[in-house]
Amino acid sequence: MNCSKCSKKSITFIRYNGRYLCREHFIEFVEKRVKREIRKQGLPKGKIAVALSGGKDSLVACYLIWKVTRDDRNRSVLAITVDEGINGYREKTVKIARDFCNEYGIPHHIISFKREIGLTLDEMSKVRGNLAECTYCGVFRRYCLNIVANEINASAIAMGHNLDDVSQTILMNFVRGDIERMARMAPHKKIQPGLIPRILPLRSIPEKETTLYAYVNGFEISENECPYAIRAMRGIYRDFLIQLEEKHPGSRHSILKSFFEIEECLHNKFSPAILNPCKKCGQPSSEKICMACQLLEKIKGEISF
Ligand code: SF4
Ligand SMILES: [Zn+2]
Ligand SMILES: [Zn+2]
Repeated sequence: MNCSKCSKKSITFIRYNGRYLCREHFIEFVEKRVKREIRKQGLPKGKIAVALSGGKDSLVACYLIWKVTRDDRNRSVLAITVDEGINGYREKTVKIARDFCNEYGIPHHIISFKREIGLTLDEMSKVRGNLAECTYCGVFRRYCLNIVANEINASAIAMGHNLDDVSQTILMNFVRGDIERMARMAPHKKIQPGLIPRILPLRSIPEKETTLYAYVNGFEISENECPYAIRAMRGIYRDFLIQLEEKHPGSRHSILKSFFEIEECLHNKFSPAILNPCKKCGQPSSEKICMACQLLEKIKGEISF
């Protein structure tokens, strides 16, 4: 089939809007929406740190932030990679992230769980108790990202979450009845002391499109999947949304749109948590002891048995 916008051969069919797109028009289609998201969420001046795991979404987010800021004298991009210590999985993506940053001349910071927390995720996995690895991974990854972003004085952290991830999170919070968490989802509008605000440039781009965008731009894509993903609760929501999208194309967009409709009410009902430095590590926290320090205590307790 030919592209719906020109006579060239199409490379993809976008089901939810019924269009065939050639390579150029597909790239334009993705970039237009990402630029719109960036305008809408706001890109503060200064250093924009990208959380670069080395997975395809983070590469696409990093590339697009690099592209929109490369002629901007008020903004610069740098990347932070968190090495959780997942044997046989993370080494490859850390290398992809490093090579990518070398190619585009992006300053790259790597921080590891082992060095910062004292244990790899593989070691935590052995004493994880009834919590899935993803719980530890998520808490300590946010902790590590915030440490580096503060050290380098970043004004924002761009995350690679795509439309699938965001619609899963909205649905998950809704099903769990955790509306307060929904109100606190990134992108953050209010600047909190010590907490670097997050932006989600790929929030409106479906995963299939971020994958194709990475592919047409020649980014190296790792085929490996995290060995702990199997225990992630998110999997149920991912499968459900894939089925829903199959039957009703555009469902993920509708979930995001519904969230936009209620976002202001949520922010009025739940004002941002009051953050104070954690008594142990000094990182911003809504409790006396931050979640990272609480989890670390729990792990140490398990190890001493
Ligand atoms: S699947 Fe879970 S454990 Fe693996 S990298 Fe993602 S959050 Fe971490
Ligand atoms: Zn075209
Ligand atoms: Zn702490």
